[in-house]
Amino acid sequence: MGSAHKIDVSGLVAGNRGGLVVDDRVPVAPFEGVLFPEAAAVHLELQASGELLEIQGTIDVPLTSECARCLGTVAESMHVKVDEQVEAGASLQDGPFEESNVLTAGRLDVADLAAQLIYSAIPIGLLCKEDCKGICPRCGENRNSKECECNGETSG
Ligand SMILES: [Zn+2]
Ligand SMILES: [Zn+2]
Repeated sequence: MGSAHKIDVSGLVAGNRGGLVVDDRVPVAPFEGVLFPEAAAVHLELQASGELLEIQGTIDVPLTSECARCLGTVAESMHVKVDEQVEAGASLQDGPFEESNVLTAGRLDVADLAAQLIYSAIPIGLLCKEDCKGICPRCGENRNSKECECNGETSG
């Protein structure tokens, strides 16, 4: 199953095809406390321009995490816009994806590409809701579910 999400783009890069559309669902591994309970829906449109592979499209994936304020569960969906260029030439070794080999031997690893783009787009400080009241620093009560008695007092 490890290579199930690899797309052969060698014909595209060689100029034999005008373009390639990829629709795939790829599982995404947890990342820094963020879990992805469902596979990401990946839609990519690939175009070759010389030795450059242009990748445009969208990635949609639900995620769950801990609220940065109250430690409750955050459940939302991420929508990532894809607009990337990957060097496809054999002689070119630089580029942001070089280390992870998103593109090797004419094959694009859609799962790896999606994971990297999702990870880099995860918002910092996810909140269960915009106006999360957080945990009371004095008594530890979750202020979303209950107003504690020290509510309103900010210093001792
Ligand atoms: Zn919260
Ligand atoms: Zn309190």
